[in-house]
Amino acid sequence: MRTYSPLPVTFTHGSGCWLWDTKGNKYLDALCGIAVTGLGHAHPAISEAICGQAKRLLHTSNLFEIDLQKQLAEKLTALAGMDNVFFSNSGAEANEAAIKIARLHGHNKGIKQPAIIVTENSFHGRTLATLSATGNRKVQAGFEPLVTGFSRAPYNNVDALHTIASHDKNIVAVLVEPLQGESGINIPDETYLPAIREICNEYGWLMILDEIQTGMGRSGKWFAFQHYNFTPDIMTLAKALGNGVPIGACLAKGEAARTFQPGNHGTTFGGNPLACRTALAVIEAIEHNGLVERARLLGNRILTGLKQNLSSHPHVKDIRGKGLLIAVELDSPCKELAQRALDIGIVVNIANENRIRLLPPLILSDDEADMIVTKVSELVSGFNPK
Ligand SMILES: *Cc1c(COP(=O)(O)O)cnc(C)c1O
Repeated sequence: MRTYSPLPVTFTHGSGCWLWDTKGNKYLDALCGIAVTGLGHAHPAISEAICGQAKRLLHTSNLFEIDLQKQLAEKLTALAGMDNVFFSNSGAEANEAAIKIARLHGHNKGIKQPAIIVTENSFHGRTLATLSATGNRKVQAGFEPLVTGFSRAPYNNVDALHTIASHDKNIVAVLVEPLQGESGINIPDETYLPAIREICNEYGWLMILDEIQTGMGRSGKWFAFQHYNFTPDIMTLAKALGNGVPIGACLAKGEAARTFQPGNHGTTFGGNPLACRTALAVIEAIEHNGLVERARLLGNRILTGLKQNLSSHPHVKDIRGKGLLIAVELDSPCKELAQRALDIGIVVNIANENRIRLLPPLILSDDEADMIVTKVSELVSGFNPK
């Protein structure tokens, strides 16, 4: 089904930060399949883990104990300071689990119509509940009736949360991205997320962070909330967790971690030996190579370079980033730049019509990071809106 309009290029293989197409052209990958292949392509340790596990055991179902799932859960909860995990196959499913925990938590407190605060311009997935939580009409249009039980607030606005609290006694949680990825790297004020934590404590709400795009080192910390001094009640992961092998995770802490009981939720594939073995190898490779700190340094390097080259460009409105989540915002729609980038040998993404979004791999060398700066500067220099 034509759910996408793909660009006319077919990649045949990759190595590290590079991709090759059917015509033999070579591209620097500054997108990572949307923040997925953080360790680049054909990473030896990841390929070996996948092949080795494929020869041992792929799947048995959650009707039986899965040792690799327990190992991965222990590793992830230790890194995040959380208590337990539900494993899924995608980001949307991880958010579905989070939404279900919040609703059940509400029912356990005697709230019969539990509601969750979500924000404008957010993205949480394409299933019915997650598209209803998403703050983008284009994602929702045609799929009404939407799932109810979501209350919308402007992003980066603390007062709005107090206002909702004062007139809606059914709120049980806030679901928010630490920075908004799909809508073009919208970075909130430093005080926003800590304030949400305080408000959640004050009203007894669960704080749910969607770290599907920001997690696994990309922001310069293992998880973006670790730039601050708090822990959420629930955090969702997916994208880079399996470096391309589908896996999602919903981590929880405290009461949220004790909400699901046997029978409340389930999945056939989620947390199978192949996905968990791969994710364990991903975490090991990130740790072994110090890639969380590298992401921070590389992000600063690319951001500084882009600002030097492009700050005074007449069509550049803003250049911003946190770790390896970077956007160059232009003053007009620039969709054609995705193809023009390919023409000059780099893969980028255009988000929210006028933002060049960069989500490059954490394994970039300094030279490759500088090459991204050069190529994106070239791309922007040639931009001539009609
Ligand atoms: C990609 C993404 C999702 C959805 O993940 P899927 O694996 O595509 O279902 C949800 N939230 C955020 C912040 C994302 O970036």
